[in-house]
Amino acid sequence: MGEDVEALKRRLPLLDYLRQQNWTGRSAGRWEYVGLCPLHEETRPSFYVNTRKNVFYCHGCGRGGDLIRFVQLSRHLSFCQSLVCLDPQTTSEDGSRAVLEQAAASYRQQLDHYPEALSYLNQRGLEDPILIKELEIGYAPGGCLRRHLTAQGHSFDLLRQVGLLNGNGSDAFYQRIVFPLRQGQHVVNLYGRSIGAAFAHRFLPGSKGGLYAWEKVRHCPEVILVEGLFDYAALRQAGFHNVTCSLGTHLNGGQFRQLCNGPRTVYLTFDVDANQSGQLAAELLAHRLDAKGIAARRVHLPQGHDPDSFFVAGGDAHQFQSLLEAAQP
Ligand SMILES: [Zn+2]
Repeated sequence: MGEDVEALKRRLPLLDYLRQQNWTGRSAGRWEYVGLCPLHEETRPSFYVNTRKNVFYCHGCGRGGDLIRFVQLSRHLSFCQSLVCLDPQTTSEDGSRAVLEQAAASYRQQLDHYPEALSYLNQRGLEDPILIKELEIGYAPGGCLRRHLTAQGHSFDLLRQVGLLNGNGSDAFYQRIVFPLRQGQHVVNLYGRSIGAAFAHRFLPGSKGGLYAWEKVRHCPEVILVEGLFDYAALRQAGFHNVTCSLGTHLNGGQFRQLCNGPRTVYLTFDVDANQSGQLAAELLAHRLDAKGIAARRVHLPQGHDPDSFFVAGGDAHQFQSLLEAAQP
């Protein structure tokens, strides 16, 4: 073990870990955040995180504890296994990159064999086969990754450490559309969108990396920033090429620095949901960008919409362009 448990928890505060896993919570007091419980299905938030004590408690399922406890519960690991998978020193970078690359390739090969996956993409309005190929979208049916990757010589322990397998050896991604997240040439994480009733958004443990496909837009004077990969795909499919995605409304330090690394205008196009969380996040981000001298414009989608649903509901590129032109600082 590279560090003791208390040092690990200081290095990786529970709230940061949850946000890496795409958990979103709203402030509920000076030290508290509340959001949907990642450990059980619910529609009203009852999962509380206390940032001072660095612990969580869910009033829905009655479970609570610290970072290690959360990893144990969410990934079905023992205490020791949880420590191993949170310790970056135990996994060699090359080994984990290679196994993520092969997992992504395997998921990609599965996509065409599962009608339910293709019909989910259609339902989200994603139909362009060239774009699906370019984004390397795959499908994790669940139940076959372990055999496939161990047959290619990857150890069970490595698969578990990078989070592709749960502690009991079952696939972590089950009935999920999968997008590989690349940093330069390397896959640094995978995003899995459930096509069923399971917790909608899931990443592997560890960093989500920088802004999605940033290399393509870093020199654009105007950049459209969205929070979800289906939003990204919808805009690309509609012909907008200057798009990037922050994989949630909370930008990590690296993503924020990318937006600030040159003069540009950023069009913040977050979800317009009933609880206002997307709009609040956009407002905060606009202020932070403004303080760094970056022009931010907030794009107002119709109530209840994200960019993906805007196009699914019949919106077209011309209408979206009008929204961009009407965007306010
Ligand atoms: Zn719960």
